[in-house]
Amino acid sequence: MQGIGEWAVQRAQLSGDKVGFVYDGRSWTYGEFNDRTDRLANQLRSRFGVRRGDRVAAVVASSVECLEVLFASAKLGAIFTPINVRLTAPEIGYVLADLGAELLFVHGQFAQVPAALAEPGVRVRDVVTLGEEYDTLLADGSQEPVPSQVDRDDVAVIMYTSGTTGRPKGAMLTHENLRANAAAVTSAFGLRKSDVTITALPMFHMGGLGLHTLPFIYLGGRNVILPSFDPTAVLDLVAAERVTQLLLVPTMWQAVTAVPDLERYDLSSLDCALTSGAPAPIAVLEFFADLGIPFEEGFGMTECAPSVAKLDAEYIRTKAGSIGRSLFGIDIRVVDDRDQDVPVGTVGELLVRGDNVFVGYWMRPEETAEALRGGWFHTGDLGWVDEDGFITLVDRRKDMLISGGENVYTREVELVIAEMPQVRDVAVVGAAHAKWGETPVAFVVAKDDEDLTEEAVIAFARQRLAGFKTPTSVCFLQALPTTATGKIQKNALRDRVAACASDG
Ligand code: ATP
Ligand code: MG
Repeated sequence: MQGIGEWAVQRAQLSGDKVGFVYDGRSWTYGEFNDRTDRLANQLRSRFGVRRGDRVAAVVASSVECLEVLFASAKLGAIFTPINVRLTAPEIGYVLADLGAELLFVHGQFAQVPAALAEPGVRVRDVVTLGEEYDTLLADGSQEPVPSQVDRDDVAVIMYTSGTTGRPKGAMLTHENLRANAAAVTSAFGLRKSDVTITALPMFHMGGLGLHTLPFIYLGGRNVILPSFDPTAVLDLVAAERVTQLLLVPTMWQAVTAVPDLERYDLSSLDCALTSGAPAPIAVLEFFADLGIPFEEGFGMTECAPSVAKLDAEYIRTKAGSIGRSLFGIDIRVVDDRDQDVPVGTVGELLVRGDNVFVGYWMRPEETAEALRGGWFHTGDLGWVDEDGFITLVDRRKDMLISGGENVYTREVELVIAEMPQVRDVAVVGAAHAKWGETPVAFVVAKDDEDLTEEAVIAFARQRLAGFKTPTSVCFLQALPTTATGKIQKNALRDRVAACASDG
């Protein structure tokens, strides 16, 4: 099997009548899915001249069509890029120009797209709008199977990173990377053909596309696709579709577990609940422990397609705070600034090696060489590994600061401040300081009606943290700036430090 396009072909041969997708109140069998991707692939080739290596982009909500465009492109050896629908016109324009995409699929509701197409450097020649135009395109397409011209080391997807630490970078993922991830995920989670998942995470992030959606096609399970996240819709679908595996990011879990009358919803079909992408909230762990449903935490990143490690349900308490051990077939190292291995229990940068690790950043040879030096992917995440192989993350390299010569991991400070009962949300960043070089500054969102002062937060932190870790100022916000998957954008906060200090 050379490319992922073959997954659609083989699924149709092996289980053509099985419903593979439920979306928008309808079902699609694997047979239909393969048939539709053949029609689309033929149209991509004959009508739009798409060839091996060309870039096909999409600004679409999670949908069966999004997967059809991916698989049709894959059958031709073309490269698919789903773009974050929450980006502004200049940001989408940046991605389209960076990619040199010539063909774009869109959902009409994303009104920023026309302006994005007018941005400098954008070369898109054809735009196909999902709905009537797309349906006609498919209906007119030839059903002839597309001859495979794909090598497993061809790039299948260029996925832009979340842009949490800077401008999003296009991670080039090959057909083999996607296969290796699917194999690792299905075995690590013990997934079966009878499993049903909800794709609630957007398909324009690897956490959505790679963690469950693609492995479920690889395995022949069933994907219930939700175009946009809504906590009660998730709960209704779990009951209606007898969902067995539910993957959400922490902010989504918080919303789901905050739904009033939660006990009204039938969650009895769930075999496993899963979170990934950011630290798991304790309250959510407690919720599932009370229900007796195993809760697991995954760790990964775009560049690893995305899966790297997982904390199994049985360790969720004894190894609390850890993101688990690396998945089968994936190697991990922890190194110092000179890429030398550090002893067990010592903090360093996490390196990853495996068939799931990307081949480079699109059009960024220097960043690629830096990230993949020595044949290991340098994740930019700092952590340590215990004697049993369990990994604990302490911070991102770019987020930690050095205050008076001492390392400060912002996550440690955040965890302490989050213990204050009046605090809803908190993020800590480093700010320049005349005497100490840098000091931690906390951005706090207080719970409604809570009267919280800067002095109170600092006093609370000072009792529990060394002086150099205690924030030197606290700024109050209504909400923290986040990415589409709920990650806190610390760059945006760093830009606000000066304004905050001058406010108070
Ligand atoms: P960018 O690379 O553009 O700055 P990003 O790193 O947030 O953005 P992603 O690839 O979507 O883009 O996210 C991967 C990162 O998310 C990891 O490197 C890690 O820092 C964080 N992460 C992933 N899973 C977890 C988890 N379970 N707990 C804590 N952090 C996590
Ligand atoms: Mg990253």
